[in-house]
Amino acid sequence: MESLLSSPDALIATWRMIFIHDTARYLIAASLMAAILAVFSQQFAARKLQDRQPKPGQIGREIRYSLLTGFIFSINGLLTAIATELGWTQIYSSVGDYGAGYLILSLVVMVVLHDAYFYWSHRAIHHPALFKWVHRTHHRSRTPTPWTAYAFDPAEAIVNAVFMPMLALLMPLHPLVIFLFMAHMIIRNVMGHSGHELFPRNMKHHPVFGALTNVLHHDLHHRDMNHNYGLYFSWWDRWMGTEHPDYRKGRDGAKRRAGKFPLPVRMSFVSLLMLAGSPAANASTPPTTEVQTVTANIEIAPCEADRERLCASVLWEPACEQETAERRP
Ligand SMILES: [Zn+2]
Ligand SMILES: [Zn+2]
Repeated sequence: MESLLSSPDALIATWRMIFIHDTARYLIAASLMAAILAVFSQQFAARKLQDRQPKPGQIGREIRYSLLTGFIFSINGLLTAIATELGWTQIYSSVGDYGAGYLILSLVVMVVLHDAYFYWSHRAIHHPALFKWVHRTHHRSRTPTPWTAYAFDPAEAIVNAVFMPMLALLMPLHPLVIFLFMAHMIIRNVMGHSGHELFPRNMKHHPVFGALTNVLHHDLHHRDMNHNYGLYFSWWDRWMGTEHPDYRKGRDGAKRRAGKFPLPVRMSFVSLLMLAGSPAANASTPPTTEVQTVTANIEIAPCEADRERLCASVLWEPACEQETAERRP
């Protein structure tokens, strides 16, 4: 194989290949996510996390900054390739050198360490002395879109880029592990900025899967910058007391479309629900001394079959509501 350092042409060809990989990763993941949300907009409507729409020009700005990030990542990739050729990194080419077990373990370790690196570097760039220069562009998107994924200031792109080569100095990494790490990173990244809850709503209460961040986790970070700095896992925010107070309450904060209907319409639905639960409506039901309190989120929206009519959907979240009720003063 021709050496990367044999000629300027070889260097440029390598950089071009890395640049295409880095930008294609973003463009494919973000456009696929955006296309899925557009095609299945009806199905995802109830999972939209904010009532607010992205500002005019926001997506264009996000794509421009993301392409700049792709360029910075490609320079980082080229420098990593040169360092590897010079024998400075521990990137290895034969799986047999360390075995398949190490291959899987190194991927898990890489993801866990990246989450820790992201949490602490993210908290650092929120410091007032750094925020304006390093992180402001990303937070111009208060209502994130899949295109927000790589919308970084150049300095933030560098902070994010250097994790992989720094780790490659410390532990052996196979190119396949780096590829899978990058694929996982961009998928979680565009999901986290999709503005729609793509995970089960009660996942955050699960004893095992609750350690994973859902979409609401990072969406709350874009609304209120003082909480939820984690990326893949929720544990650092829990350990360090930076988890958003609303995260586990089962409320995503969106008024949804119910708030857009006039008060009389909303009151009529409340009246109907009260009527349905009144003694007259349940005359055949024997009286009981047991008091049950049931709470639910009710979504009122134009019917799918007939947009002129209104339909009500009940979004039950028993586990979350129980916790919410317990926290009420
Ligand atoms: Zn973000
Ligand atoms: Zn931030």
